[in-house]
Amino acid sequence: MSVGPVVRDEATAAFFDGTAAGQFLLRHCQAGHFSEPAATQCTTCGATELTWQPATGLARLVSWTVSYGKAADGEPPPRTLLVIGELDEGPWWWSQLADVDPAAAGRLTVGARLRIEFRRAAAEHEAVPVFVLTARA
Ligand SMILES: [Zn+2]
Repeated sequence: MSVGPVVRDEATAAFFDGTAAGQFLLRHCQAGHFSEPAATQCTTCGATELTWQPATGLARLVSWTVSYGKAADGEPPPRTLLVIGELDEGPWWWSQLADVDPAAAGRLTVGARLRIEFRRAAAEHEAVPVFVLTARA
């Protein structure tokens, strides 16, 4: 499983500083709600004063699908297992499910425990959060 090259911009710099340090950062309001990293206001109460807070990186599986890439000559199309996870802090996040053969997607179960890990396309690219299963099915 590989991730594509990802480059930061001004809006994602703080988030990727976190992933480089092995942390998945969420937006956090003074009332204690967590919002997804791209949120500009709290998704629960609408507050616009948000800070960054590291998440536990733990989640439960909500849904999944297999995405088919473009086939090269004579090769089967590459497959990627994409999942939606509900973080323990509440927000949902989607990414690849790493280290699971897409052919085994039928054995996944809603609620399976996930953990975020970080992968890079190459050393010069950003660390990208992906999900892994916390226990083998
Ligand atoms: Zn809030």
